[in-house]
Amino acid sequence: MTTYRWLFGDQLGPHFVDDTEARVLMVESRAVFRRRAFHRQKAHLVLSAMRHRAAELGRRCRYLTSGTYGQALADVRGELEVCQPTSWAAVHLVERLGEDRSVRRLPARGFSASRAEFAAWADGRGRRRLLMEDFYRNNRARLGVLMDGDQPVGGRWNFDAENREPPPKGADNLGLPEPGWPVEDDIDAEVRHDLDAMAADGVEFVGEDGPRLFAATREEALAALADFVENRLASFGRYEDAIMRGDRWMAHSLLSAPLNLGLLDPMEVVRAAEAAHHDGRASLAAVEGFVRQVIGWRDYIWHLYWYLGEDYRTNNELNQRGSIPDWFAALDPDGTDAACVRSALASVRDSGWAHHIPRLMVLGNYALQQGWRPQQVTDWFHRSFVDGYDWVMVPNVVGMSQHADAGVLATKPYVSGGAYIDKMSDHCHDCRFDPKKRVGPDGCPFTGGYWRFLHRHREEFAANPRMGQMVRGLDRLKDLDQVLAEEP
Ligand SMILES: Cc1cc2nc3c(=O)[nH]c(=O)nc-3n(C[C@H](O)[C@H](O)[C@H](O)COP(=O)(O)OP(=O)(O)OC[C@H]3O[C@@H](n4cnc5c(N)ncnc54)[C@H](O)[C@@H]3O)c2cc1C
Ligand code: SF4
Repeated sequence: MTTYRWLFGDQLGPHFVDDTEARVLMVESRAVFRRRAFHRQKAHLVLSAMRHRAAELGRRCRYLTSGTYGQALADVRGELEVCQPTSWAAVHLVERLGEDRSVRRLPARGFSASRAEFAAWADGRGRRRLLMEDFYRNNRARLGVLMDGDQPVGGRWNFDAENREPPPKGADNLGLPEPGWPVEDDIDAEVRHDLDAMAADGVEFVGEDGPRLFAATREEALAALADFVENRLASFGRYEDAIMRGDRWMAHSLLSAPLNLGLLDPMEVVRAAEAAHHDGRASLAAVEGFVRQVIGWRDYIWHLYWYLGEDYRTNNELNQRGSIPDWFAALDPDGTDAACVRSALASVRDSGWAHHIPRLMVLGNYALQQGWRPQQVTDWFHRSFVDGYDWVMVPNVVGMSQHADAGVLATKPYVSGGAYIDKMSDHCHDCRFDPKKRVGPDGCPFTGGYWRFLHRHREEFAANPRMGQMVRGLDRLKDLDQVLAEEP
């Protein structure tokens, strides 16, 4: 009987197949696109990547296009084996299939720590918090990344202090070469044609279509990694937290999409960065800043998704009940005059991507202050970003960005007024609002919104040692009534 390695659409790299002769099964489920209005470029990227992989595998691959996974698999005779998929829903699907037929389930791949390794670390902490910094150090030491024996290279684990600079003064951009983009081919043309047909048939998408920007094949992913290491890694850390309106990509790697499609393994990415430091092509601060994102944050988020359980996604500890307005849902920058929100939304509309700080300190901060339901915000991020998958969105949005878990993931909310955005971006001088003002026609929505948010959650935050001082600041505001009276 034939045994198929069933590959989900985010298990596309060589490390998801063990035997170069083995048969492979892939299912392109059209039902997925009817459930949510995905960004058009995200739909394109995923379909393009799956079809390119199927083309590479040639006759070894059985590629089924169907309404649902269940419908497709009903016709497949033979045994299935599958690496652990990346969402609770897909894990349950595999479990259900296993009730009626032989399905061999293999551990997850594509992360630097296994679930057992994470559980051993987490369980060993007793009642201490699951701090990312501690996980990262443990992981780095275990994997021997940037290590000198049992000590970190350079004597320090953390270069955050060097890596938080505002944008360089008087410059519109970092002056780095434009990232190398993939060249579309016949498979992309076919995908575009199919998506047009789906749209004509009533399937909704958001965002603009456009040339595919992110890697859809292993070859393109390796080229994107090489381009980053060669041209942007050396500048990565220093301006990691800065936003420049004339430079969407800055020194970011743009590797989240190929990593999350499984086209790159995190360890090869980290080793490439480490080698650049050894060869003197990038400073330790830059390389450490990058490495902590990949085998620190990325792995930590992945493991928390499973460790915190399936219900974690429903948390709404701040009892936020508002709804995302239509303009935000449709990625329409014209829905607001706030220059920073307009720019972040335009970036998502045009490319399905914005770097970490627009996600966290502009879009997420705005959603938090406006009081939108965390589950709606999670869904919005998931469908609007090219790199959005359930495992990565749930902890990043519910926990990190919307603080809906009462502080499991972050001890205090990522909320700020206009002063932070003014310091870390070049948006405010071109905005009709004034970041210093919290009320009036030119009052900054973030500055007023910050105080309204604190007031709304005064009770929850009063007992938080990291928030007490901010909450007490409310009592010193002479114009608090006016701040509260203004529209959120
Ligand atoms: C509200 C919110 C939503 C996010 N949604 C996603 C998402 O859907 N998919 C996603 O991959 N990342 C997400 N992130 C994390 C991070 O913003 C993106 O990984 C990063 O901006 C992608 O661009 P890049 O590849 O150039 O990253 P770089 O800045 O170059 O960072 C290098 C790599 O580190 C990893 N990384 C860094 N931080 C995180 C993190 N918090 N979680 C997971 N991986 C991380 C990514 O793989 C990224 O490619 C989100 C962050 C926030 C605050
Ligand atoms: S003034 Fe306020 S709304 Fe305008 S760009 Fe600055 S932070 Fe954003």
